Amino acid sequence: MRTEDSKRVAVVAMNDGFYVTRVDGGGHEVIMATMPDFIHDLSKAELHVHLEGSIEPATLLEIAPALSIEEITARYRYDGFIEFLKAFGWVAMHLSTPRHYAIATRRLLARLAQQNVRYAEITLSAGVVLRKGQDLDAIHQAVREAASESPVRTAWIWDAVRQWGAEPARRVAEAAVSHREDGVVAFGLGGDEAGGQARDFGSVFRCAKDGGLHLVCHAGEVTDAESVWQALECGAERIGHGIRAIDDDALVRHLAEREIPLEVSISSNVCLRNVTSLEHHPVRRLYDAGVPIVLNTDDPPMFQSTLEGEYRIAADAFGFTEAELRAVARNGFQYAFAWQPDSKP
Ligand SMILES: [Zn+2]
Repeated sequence: MRTEDSKRVAVVAMNDGFYVTRVDGGGHEVIMATMPDFIHDLSKAELHVHLEGSIEPATLLEIAPALSIEEITARYRYDGFIEFLKAFGWVAMHLSTPRHYAIATRRLLARLAQQNVRYAEITLSAGVVLRKGQDLDAIHQAVREAASESPVRTAWIWDAVRQWGAEPARRVAEAAVSHREDGVVAFGLGGDEAGGQARDFGSVFRCAKDGGLHLVCHAGEVTDAESVWQALECGAERIGHGIRAIDDDALVRHLAEREIPLEVSISSNVCLRNVTSLEHHPVRRLYDAGVPIVLNTDDPPMFQSTLEGEYRIAADAFGFTEAELRAVARNGFQYAFAWQPDSKP
């Protein structure tokens, strides 16, 4: 053992790598593995990643060769959430054929497989597809075929854009229900949280639920804890982000007692300044309060994040121990809607 600071932390050499441990009363609690292998080797699930937001600049250039890489990279920089939404929409507008969606799916799943992700629930902005007037069935078939080539088991969440109102969202929900036996496991609500309250979509969520789908909702990312309460009233089984729950003790207790998970994406929240700084991110406090936490990337190249990176940030910035990170990784499978351990590696 090589001790760097006997009062606080120590670096311990073990058979499978080096571990930074917290020294406490003669005991050692592992707080991070300095070798990348531990986090890499961990079997992980990704439950909150947007297909359109997963497209690397180089892939978008391949899809839309009339663009320049300079233009694309400039678009991947934004000052806050609304500018990000515009960039996301701009990327999505360039996906003009089912083949483009299939390319995006292949690239995303290849990157997830490299990170030892075994299962992914990918969010497709079905509301955007319908608004573009594209053939949603053909796109679904193309992404399903692309996903079938991957070792990563995949299920789909179709989400609606809240600022466009309830009727377009209902069309998404109805279309999602029609593909319930065909890989779509949930209906979700995304877009500009300040531009549409979940409560206004109550009948749409009911339609999806009655049709046999699970429900998810972005909430408490940009606005407040009240938004999370509304998502729960609508039947959301997982909350996208939900970080503002930290402002409401009763909500934190509710999430912990009912075991309702938050899909946390630390890099996304920091990049879009939905927290004032990394150190102010509430992931540690929410976890310590017993709220189930799942780590996710949201839109990886748009926030320069990876799933492994999110686990490392949890370790480095918030002192998550190896045991805690293993528990977080298990949450990814426990709270998945369609994970079957024996179905695929
Ligand atoms: Zn999201």
